[in-house]
Amino acid sequence: MNWPQCPTGKSLFIKANAPVRIVTAPMKRLRYVRSVALHGKVHYRGSVADTTIIPISPPLAKEERTVRNAHNNMNINQNANLDLFDDLNKSKEQKKVLVVDTVPKDARNQGSINLGLEIVKDKMDADVCHWWEMVPNVGKYELIGFNVFYPTALLNIVPFLRKNNLSLLKPGRGIKTIAGGPGIGHNNILGGIIDETFLGEYDEFENIKEITSKPYFKGNKAVIELTRGCRSRCHFCEYIWSNPSNRQKPIELVKEQIDYVVSKGIRNINFMSANFTGYHHVQELAPYAASKGVVIKNSDITIRDAHNIFPILKYLPKYLKMGVESFDEKTRIKIGKKFTDEHLFLTIKKLLRHCSDLHFYLIYGLPDDDYTKWFKWLKILGDLRKTYRHKVPNLFNPEGELENTKPIRFEFSITNFEPADGTLLESANQVDFKEKNKFLKKWFSALIENGFVDKKLKGRLDYKNFKGRIGRKKKSYDLLMELKKGGPELTDHLVNVYPNGVGRSISDDESMKFLNFRQKKERTVQNAQIRSR
Ligand code: SF4
Repeated sequence: MNWPQCPTGKSLFIKANAPVRIVTAPMKRLRYVRSVALHGKVHYRGSVADTTIIPISPPLAKEERTVRNAHNNMNINQNANLDLFDDLNKSKEQKKVLVVDTVPKDARNQGSINLGLEIVKDKMDADVCHWWEMVPNVGKYELIGFNVFYPTALLNIVPFLRKNNLSLLKPGRGIKTIAGGPGIGHNNILGGIIDETFLGEYDEFENIKEITSKPYFKGNKAVIELTRGCRSRCHFCEYIWSNPSNRQKPIELVKEQIDYVVSKGIRNINFMSANFTGYHHVQELAPYAASKGVVIKNSDITIRDAHNIFPILKYLPKYLKMGVESFDEKTRIKIGKKFTDEHLFLTIKKLLRHCSDLHFYLIYGLPDDDYTKWFKWLKILGDLRKTYRHKVPNLFNPEGELENTKPIRFEFSITNFEPADGTLLESANQVDFKEKNKFLKKWFSALIENGFVDKKLKGRLDYKNFKGRIGRKKKSYDLLMELKKGGPELTDHLVNVYPNGVGRSISDDESMKFLNFRQKKERTVQNAQIRSR
């Protein structure tokens, strides 16, 4: 085929001897040209350099269909994983393993790809379903695995067993069960219900020195994993204290995988990494991806490594998110977030050359945090926004009205500190909610004073209208910490308290059912002990 460029630069003429797919990056639009030996005309705004023409039929030659993994000779099956949940119906007669996704029905980012689940599904040749589904002929499976992304999703395991008429406790189930995922701790919470819990990476062996995982797709999105682990080793972070530590995918393999994903007509790629900015080849990756018309979906960055992305900001989203954790420099340094206030400020200024929206993740309740520093930072950031305005005089106001030279948005989300087993801060105090409530009052006022929230909302700000951006309420937090603490004595709770499972947020009343159940049980045990004395 050939595609001479129209002199106006606005039209592309193509002559193809086979059906092709034309992808015009600037418009993010796919056009399909289906007729054979077609002489078509496509209008688009952009240059030929932004356009890719991909044959869609006849099928690619066999050797082209297989992208060779340069490092472990692992083949990538083109047809696999186009949509994870499609497979359940197709293959239910043959497969012996079922993986149950325990994510709540109303979870954010339902459309995003759960890489761990995809890898297990792929390696175990498993069917996949959601926890709320009734699975036909469930008895044919030899193994049922539960993917638990977040600890509260543990509460959705028993409802699946109940719905599918399987024994709620281990004995007599007749099918082996296993649970894994980042929401599973070392706390034996599932001991009475599940035969085995799996901690760590299912495919660790293949990724022990460098990351070799293949790309995965869902709808029009793809995930290419870049790194595992993180060199930062923040003292509260559960993720990084696993071994082996920081590993990266070779850039040659990343490029091959980008080509492969693009050949499938997919341009939205999340380069999965706990620290995208710390990937050694990020400066080579971004322009390469852009040259293929790929939209980089990563928006999370780390301040310590942000300098790596300054030269490539134009390829990244205008909305970036970063874990600051505390606006008190001393607290940050103590918890392993080793960047100074000056470093933070200069980074923000540099990011604003490209970005218009920055999101700061904070943690309330870190040991000895100094919140007066947080309020100082709100003022600094409020003032910084004002520098992106200037006065424009008009007929009615020769002094001038303030106009934005660039609309800047700063957002803040605060999670509660959750001291976790296996981290350096595991024995630190939990959040004191009396103090947190006092803090929040001041925080809301400061957000209004510094122009981050509309004045009209004065006196009306609370957990509801902050939509999860100020962390869990006390009872829901207590429930979460109970789950993290774990222990076999929680088996009865998991079996009895939430027969219909839980959603993303758990209300006070719902949380109390769990917490009261424990207290009631403890009282019963104490009474029995007293009686036996
Ligand atoms: S930078 Fe993020 S992923 Fe890395 S250790 Fe710190 S909190 Fe964990």
